[in-house]
Amino acid sequence: VTKIGVLTSGGDAPGMNAAVRAVVRTGIYYGLEVYGIMRGYTGMVENDIIPMHSRSVANIIQRGGTILKTARCKEFLQKEGRQKAYNNLKDLGIDGLVIIGGDGSFRGADVFSREFDIPCIGIPGTIDKDIAGTDFTIGFDTAVNTAVESIDKIRDTADAHDRLFIIEVMGRDAGYIALHSGIATGAEHILIPERKTDMEELISSLQEKERRKKLVNMVVVAEGDEFGGGDQVAALVKERLPNVDTRLCILGHIQRGGSPTCLDRLIASRMGYSAVECLLEGRHNVMVGILNNRMQYTLLEKAVKSKQKISDEWMKIVKILAS
Ligand code: ATP
Repeated sequence: VTKIGVLTSGGDAPGMNAAVRAVVRTGIYYGLEVYGIMRGYTGMVENDIIPMHSRSVANIIQRGGTILKTARCKEFLQKEGRQKAYNNLKDLGIDGLVIIGGDGSFRGADVFSREFDIPCIGIPGTIDKDIAGTDFTIGFDTAVNTAVESIDKIRDTADAHDRLFIIEVMGRDAGYIALHSGIATGAEHILIPERKTDMEELISSLQEKERRKKLVNMVVVAEGDEFGGGDQVAALVKERLPNVDTRLCILGHIQRGGSPTCLDRLIASRMGYSAVECLLEGRHNVMVGILNNRMQYTLLEKAVKSKQKISDEWMKIVKILAS
């Protein structure tokens, strides 16, 4: 490879900038020309591609969001769209790609690479941490720490007023943010998509707490929990515990923003560096991940959403520590 492109695609995640910086600077170090592709695959299709220099990525390692912007691109789902994208890359002489995104973005890269024989390397960037082949995804640590900070603040006001709080955190398919932030803030209950929650048990546990006047309670709910997220849970709790002052707080998009944590910057830097090395070594269609502190290369087609197996032990710990 001599000219590479880098893009961020799908949902944004704090730390993507640190990864872009690592790709650009490693590429330049090895004598490659590096191009930034704007708005994910959209920039590839619409030829919104800019040359990147070492200075283009100055002062971004600490910034949330992504300077390359991100998008979901319908055209790239069609062969014609991908053909257009390929023509644009070919005109510029780009012969390798680094894609920072989630499993959907990897699927796109895999299809594209098979059609046009352009090596693509994926870097897992998603706050959900639900990708097979890696212990870390860029953005999770920042998102979960934002959730922890916010829930701590909610606890202060809950305590002042003796309130029960239902707190919804992000996670449509994955409960990692809910599980980790719930444990770290001492939540009484944690509801996640990976496990069926017995709502009657939840209600009776809260009723029992009401009887013994434990009035400050926090229930952390992942947005994709089976019962229907924070709204539904709050409605049920209000109905069944009419004398408890129950409030709902949906943390929402604040979990995506903000300056990335040290851990997210570290893994982004390491993965960005490693992705360029992969291209130089002639690897094709792999995602770079970190497993047991070693770089791990997983075929893009295998780097799919992974459902976590949440051990019964964690749920037992939650129960014991919140009693
Ligand atoms: P997140 O899970 O954080 O939303 P993601 O990378 O999974 O991130 P998606 O919206 O699923 O986000 O995918 C991003 C883009 O990748 C899509 O908008 C589309 O352009 C492209 N893409 C996804 N699947 C395919 C596919 N099968 N073929 C071609 N392109 C695809």
